[in-house]
Amino acid sequence: MDLILLGPPGSGKGTQAQKMVERYRIPQISTGDILRTAVKEKTPLGVEAKQYMDQGALVPDKVVVGIVRDRLKSADCNGGFILDGFPRTVPQAEALESTLKDMKRGIDHVVSIEVDNEQLIRRLTGRRTCRDCGAMSHLTFDPPKKEGICNKCGGELYQRDDDKEGTIRARLQVYEKQTAPLIAYYRKRGLLRTIDGVGDIEKIFREIVEAIEG
Ligand code: AMP
Repeated sequence: MDLILLGPPGSGKGTQAQKMVERYRIPQISTGDILRTAVKEKTPLGVEAKQYMDQGALVPDKVVVGIVRDRLKSADCNGGFILDGFPRTVPQAEALESTLKDMKRGIDHVVSIEVDNEQLIRRLTGRRTCRDCGAMSHLTFDPPKKEGICNKCGGELYQRDDDKEGTIRARLQVYEKQTAPLIAYYRKRGLLRTIDGVGDIEKIFREIVEAIEG
């Protein structure tokens, strides 16, 4: 099953993608995670990507399309995949479509998770990320048992530069302008499934499963 998770930053895409990995046994492909690893390792890709990411801007299409193309060729994607954070622009969606066509496959469902801006800002400003395992927690909704320490692995929690309020507003604007047009793009192709992303994580997940499995 070839799936796309669409939604603004903070909509819970990453959380839901992980639950989908467990259920469907297909890999999650998060371009944000791939780029953050490259930044941490200071690879040439990471050095290039960092300047865009720190400002809340998108990394150029050519760069991310190349990453995803390579990733989709891995054997673990043969039975399907969950794209999380890609595509983010119409040219990325077009590039994906032609890559999949060459591979004689195509997207089965696009799940769009909807959350209003005020709630997104609340979620993102309180978000903390573990330096070691990458797990996310939230100061209000999922507080660490010990301040500044990851509940899962004991690593140090930090606030991603792009989770600071000024950058968040920039990211939300980028979403509206560059990514939201994908909703119409996939609706037109009959692939869009819309989900209300406010509320209990398990309830949202059940709705996603229903949307996919009908
Ligand atoms: P995310 O964790 O998905 O919110 O991504 C964090 C940042 O990585 C974004 O704000 C962008 O700078 C960059 N990024 C991730 N995915 C993409 C993409 N598909 N196209 C362009 N930039 C991306």
